[in-house]
Amino acid sequence: MTAFPPATHATQASHPTAALLLRQAPCDLNFIRVLYNGTAPPPETALMDQIRPNFFAGPYIDRRADVREEADWPAAAVSDPQTLYIVARDTAQLVYTGPQPRIAFVTREHPALREPDPHALVLLGWYKGARCVLYELGPGTQAFDPPPGTSFEELRPLSPLLPAEQAGLLAYARALTIWRKRQRFCGVCGFTALPERAGHVIRCTNETESHEFFPRIDPAIIVLVTDGERALLGRQASWPPGRYSTIAGFVEPGESLEDAVLREVLEETGVTVTNPRYDSSQPWPFPSSLMIGFQAQAERGSPIRTGEELEDARWFTRAQIRSDGLPLVPPSHSISYRLITTWLESERQS
Ligand SMILES: [Zn+2]
Repeated sequence: MTAFPPATHATQASHPTAALLLRQAPCDLNFIRVLYNGTAPPPETALMDQIRPNFFAGPYIDRRADVREEADWPAAAVSDPQTLYIVARDTAQLVYTGPQPRIAFVTREHPALREPDPHALVLLGWYKGARCVLYELGPGTQAFDPPPGTSFEELRPLSPLLPAEQAGLLAYARALTIWRKRQRFCGVCGFTALPERAGHVIRCTNETESHEFFPRIDPAIIVLVTDGERALLGRQASWPPGRYSTIAGFVEPGESLEDAVLREVLEETGVTVTNPRYDSSQPWPFPSSLMIGFQAQAERGSPIRTGEELEDARWFTRAQIRSDGLPLVPPSHSISYRLITTWLESERQS
């Protein structure tokens, strides 16, 4: 099986657990802060290793939703020299690249943050004791040149290389950015819409009848189906050769999560399942999903009939999954990986 994530995490794991290091950036610019703690990173190769909570989830930030109600929060953020800004250009976010990528937090000392457009700011919460604010570059903001050693990068390919807490923080920020970009106009009356409540609510400017909108999250189920001895995995044609994963699909209006599990598995594989049991969930801001993980049972020997979404689906034994190379299971930071490894682990417990 392919080593995943890359071995760079071995170096990070050697840092003292829970130690907080606040240090100047390598480029020695005083408006950049690097926050790094040695929280254990995701596993490298061992299928039996598990991370809890799921990647992108967990108590990585104190959201302090009450502060969002304070109208003067932008002034408080800008006046605080400890405020840490995550800078976003469209969906890309400012990070240090290199062997150990991490967030390139910016402070108010940066020229672009001296008089920021309040509508470009989103209060994320308090990260390791510091106020953390998302700053979205756009037409109303000053020009921003990435400092040396930094660049704007998309989260998805970068995420397995990041410290888990920083990946969660960027996923949170990215989800808000995408929603805000898609909510610039009112879907009811068509008026221009503007952010309020520290960027977590969008309200239209129609003075006759104002409409407000909240961040959108699209729930999707993802399920490990087993017949007792084997697991049902499928693959999409666009995936890397040999990659198989658990069955997943969006929840439809009028469905419970359990309804969606039964329907999706039947539609995609022709297999009837029973007894869906919740496992865990994972934010997945690509663009706006919440993956809700289940385990479910099927009758032994259930025939498979793939639908339009899957190129192939098969029953795999534990030995086949553990064997070198086939199937190539999903990346270790995905909930699918967790569902599969939980099932593999259950053999040793039974
Ligand atoms: Zn409206």
